[in-house]
Amino acid sequence: MDNEIFDFFNTDLQYVHGVGPVLATKFNEVLGGRRILDFLLHIPSYVRPREILDSVIGAQNGDTITISLQIKSHKKGGVFHGRRAPTQIVCADKFAAPVTIQFFNTKFLDYWIEKLPIGAWRIISGKLEFNNRNGAVINHPDFIELPDNANKIPRHQAIYPSGEGLTQKTFSAVRDQIFNIMHERVAAYKLSERMLELLDALEHVHYPETNDDLAPNGQYIVKLAYSELLAHQSAIAINRRARMAQKNLRPVRESQKNLIDKFYKILPFELTGAQKRTIDEIFADFQKPVPMMRLVQGDVGSGKTMVAMAAAVKMAESGAQTVLLAPTDTLAQQHFAKLKPMCDELGLVCDVLTGRDKGVARREKLISLKSGRTKIAIGTHALFSEDVEYKDLGLVIIDEQHRFGVDQRSTMRAKGNNPDMLALSATPIPRTLSMTVYGDMDISIINEKPAGRMPIKTSKLPVNRVGALIERIAPQVANGAKIFWVCPLVEESENSDMMAAQSRFEELNKHFPGTGLCHGQMDKKSRDKVMEEFAAPESKMRVLVSTTVIEVGIDVPSATIMVIENAERFGLAALHQLRGRVGRGSQQSFCILLYGNNISPDGIKRLDTLCETDDGFVIAEQDLMMRGVGELLGTKQSGWIQYHFVNYREHRDLFKLAQSAAMNNNSDDDIWAKTLRHIFNCSTIAGA
Ligand code: ADP
Ligand code: MG
Repeated sequence: MDNEIFDFFNTDLQYVHGVGPVLATKFNEVLGGRRILDFLLHIPSYVRPREILDSVIGAQNGDTITISLQIKSHKKGGVFHGRRAPTQIVCADKFAAPVTIQFFNTKFLDYWIEKLPIGAWRIISGKLEFNNRNGAVINHPDFIELPDNANKIPRHQAIYPSGEGLTQKTFSAVRDQIFNIMHERVAAYKLSERMLELLDALEHVHYPETNDDLAPNGQYIVKLAYSELLAHQSAIAINRRARMAQKNLRPVRESQKNLIDKFYKILPFELTGAQKRTIDEIFADFQKPVPMMRLVQGDVGSGKTMVAMAAAVKMAESGAQTVLLAPTDTLAQQHFAKLKPMCDELGLVCDVLTGRDKGVARREKLISLKSGRTKIAIGTHALFSEDVEYKDLGLVIIDEQHRFGVDQRSTMRAKGNNPDMLALSATPIPRTLSMTVYGDMDISIINEKPAGRMPIKTSKLPVNRVGALIERIAPQVANGAKIFWVCPLVEESENSDMMAAQSRFEELNKHFPGTGLCHGQMDKKSRDKVMEEFAAPESKMRVLVSTTVIEVGIDVPSATIMVIENAERFGLAALHQLRGRVGRGSQQSFCILLYGNNISPDGIKRLDTLCETDDGFVIAEQDLMMRGVGELLGTKQSGWIQYHFVNYREHRDLFKLAQSAAMNNNSDDDIWAKTLRHIFNCSTIAGA
């Protein structure tokens, strides 16, 4: 019965009265979808009160005010002696306090003069400013209504997070349309009580009366957040049950030889306790009848690759193959360069396959994979192209991927015979959340750095001191130090004070000839080329200016200095990740966080956290505590699921409630959970 409403939910916004294809496309950009449901899940971020005031007296500069005004005189605008003057409508409130309304558009000079005749009263709502010349001023009011139409001005205006080409008026008009149609439909459909409650909650948050209605602990938000978590947790529970039901599907493989002891012998270092513990956990999984699904979380530099290698070697003992999936070509090549010599010593055939491989060479690699000769295949998703076949794929390792997509998981599963899965992530998340966020995986934590690793010295510096910074690093560069210099944007946009990578590159190149530049608008090939050149030990490229494309996993042990510009624009987790690109060798490394003039107190706090600690778990916890509504750069990469209603910090208890509800119910059969999974687009392996 609740299914009926999905026709409505799934309706394209362009069919909503007054929208059309152009606006629908704009909505798509803001909402991440173009269905009515996508609109419903996109809720206002705050309420702007527009109660009608008696007088302007007492209002503060910057307030949004709504007030009844009488028009007293006009002053037509235009261009005078090359200067633009606004059209001014001088008004007075009922206590004769003056307010001037200004319009800067010089094209329609007479429009407002005709529309607002002298002596008439209007209800006007907009942002109040005081200036010396004109006193109280409202520029381009948001609303101008006849006194009889005062109710057209929303007393509690819901303000939606918006984007280009979408005004708040458009949002509220579309919202009104949607809820009008919904009321009709709801009457016709036979919806469950729960669905009606959910729709009611949605309506309340789309028509908030105060900001409390939108606060994390507002009753409707809590209800929606819980529903969203239940959807997600039930998907996780189904996946887990499906995995557990695969008992005895692991192929029986006999160990053919003892390679793992040899591996330990040829290791150039002693494994850390945490590495050993993680390896033990993985090997124990190999003994179980259910395929492994394990996430290894460890800070950058904690040595996850060797753990992965140990797992691959163990697999190879029984003749099975391992795939190590890296997010970029460069990383794949880097892993290959590092692991190949080890494999040679162990007598294991190791190969690398990326999008670069073409023609005969590629064909030969595929043959070797299919025959089972290649035991360890390192590469990008090219490893899962349709024509790639494996003889006995036993283990899939995913490096630096924050989450297994369900789709990816099934593609990989299809390539092997229920292969074990191992994900490596450098994004620690607070323990309290890991179970609920990565619910269907077992988790190992590497919370120990290899011995002898020096903590990175981190400091913050206002960007106007950059000259001094360049002077300070010059001698180090002369001595062979390599520097990552990260900038958030590529082209300096007009309204932005952000230092673009391009202009910083030009400047640094004057001081350090041969500086490299790498950004997201370059094609992948040239990007990889620059990074490889920078990584090469003998390279003359000492400084690499880049945007955050270098964030994932690149290993340049000789890089000892990381400079991050506009560090205040990044989230904590992203900064920590970036910093982890240095401090990988035995030398002292430095991280310098440059910040702009407009840094907020919160921004300072974030940078201080980073200066104080190097522990990824502490930082993750802080990140969680400080995460505001305004999303910071780098959030996407940080691996947090983007919920619509759930607030990680405020809804921690709900996580646990939803988790136990999902575990206890047999949510495969629970119709309501299934409905919620549809609403919140939570897929399960079974596709239910
Ligand atoms: P990450 O966890 O970031 O992937 P890596 O696996 O790339 O870290 O390891 C970082 C560096 O530390 C590599 O150069 C690796 O060879 C080295 N390393 C790993 N484990 C140890 C160890 N136990 N002792 C010393 N060095 C180690
Ligand atoms: Mg790594």
